[in-house]
Amino acid sequence: MRELRKNPNNKLLHNQITENMESLARIKDWTSLVNTDDGIAVVKEQMKSQLQREINQRKYEVDEVLKISKAQSATDICFLVDCTCSMKKYIVAAKTQIHQLTDTIIQLYAIKPRLAFIGYRDTDTDPEQLDFTDDVDTFYIFLEKLKLTSGHDRCEDVFGGLEIVPKLSWSNPNRVLIHICDAPCHGRDYHTFTKSRHDKYPKGDPKNREVSKLLLDIKRSKIIYCSIQLNKSVKKMFEEFVFIYGEVFEIHVNDPNTLMKHISMQTSSIIMNSIQSTMSSFRTSNMPLKSYTLLKKIPDWNAIEVHAVHTIEIIQPQAMDDIFRPLFFGQEYSTVLQAFSHWTYHITAGRYMVVDLQGAKTDNAYILTDPAIHCDDILRFKHTRTNLGVKGMDRFFNTHVCSEICARLELPAEKSQLLNKTKTNAYKSFEYADLLDATDEMDEATSKFEIMHLETEDQQANTTSF
Ligand SMILES: [Zn+2]
Repeated sequence: MRELRKNPNNKLLHNQITENMESLARIKDWTSLVNTDDGIAVVKEQMKSQLQREINQRKYEVDEVLKISKAQSATDICFLVDCTCSMKKYIVAAKTQIHQLTDTIIQLYAIKPRLAFIGYRDTDTDPEQLDFTDDVDTFYIFLEKLKLTSGHDRCEDVFGGLEIVPKLSWSNPNRVLIHICDAPCHGRDYHTFTKSRHDKYPKGDPKNREVSKLLLDIKRSKIIYCSIQLNKSVKKMFEEFVFIYGEVFEIHVNDPNTLMKHISMQTSSIIMNSIQSTMSSFRTSNMPLKSYTLLKKIPDWNAIEVHAVHTIEIIQPQAMDDIFRPLFFGQEYSTVLQAFSHWTYHITAGRYMVVDLQGAKTDNAYILTDPAIHCDDILRFKHTRTNLGVKGMDRFFNTHVCSEICARLELPAEKSQLLNKTKTNAYKSFEYADLLDATDEMDEATSKFEIMHLETEDQQANTTSF
């Protein structure tokens, strides 16, 4: 109470105290009733309905969290494509495989992506565009009608395409631009062609548009820029773009038959990251800030009381390899940790599941920073708001594909995974398991997991046995 008076805005503490006071009042009422048989019957009835009320409230909260996570998976995908004859194979692939992409996203995140298309050629023709639609057939018909032209020189009007990107009706939280091309834009800053017939406008864009303005307009709309570079002639152009844009994710596609598979993988990882970061900001949003006082004088360090603190070790990179293979693995929900989540479910006979595993990877261990626990009793750990109960476990199994590590741990496939398999059968051409990169970490897996720290602020205090 004293803490609350100091910091009246601490909502979490306020709720906890209110709840405790209500429970005390109930205990007082009930104690006065238990002296008679009739009284005991009343108490039993009240206890039952109180429990039901708490469960209903928590169920409602869980549904709200799941709703947010679903809304967070809504995605806009815009294809920006060079529409010259040399690109035919890829445009046919985009058309014929588009269902594969939308079906995969619907299956994983239960929500239809919206699609848009911008086709550019050279400066003498206007780009063609299809603004966002969630109707895959409209997208298909648009591509069916698209005409491919042959350019006069090797360079194309990339700027004309980029100019349209921010003008489309982007509206979903995940915004992905897939730029597929095999030719650079005009201007000798963007390519290494030496012959004048390869670039009619070596001085740059004939319409004087500035690349920095074009790219920053796109960046301002919070669009994730992905490139599919079909040959080396576009390398220099993208290097220039990266300089302005920051990060441009390169998707490597060597065979048009695998076009949508690669785009699905990239899009899926973008959606997954976005859900995870929303969930973790949701989790910490209610954390009270510690109050502090700034001292004007230098304190007497010897007079200050010593407290035990939680320390974090920053590990210095030892070699170039360490820099290119970052320690932080939160970005890619690793196969080993996926298997760990599955194992925790299995070993507790479906009672608990440890999820949201992120942190840092050291030589022989994972340091987990803020895992969450789902428990089949949704009233446990309720103040952390991360226990999503059986629904949370189902959500995990909806996207979890057992790896070889799960197999070595002899983990059986769960019910919701089996349901997923039957759905997948309709799209056999797409290797669903490819979504998870299962190769790298396979060798590191042993039959048991060594977790150095498994620690969360509230959960640790709440967990008595696990
Ligand atoms: Zn598994």
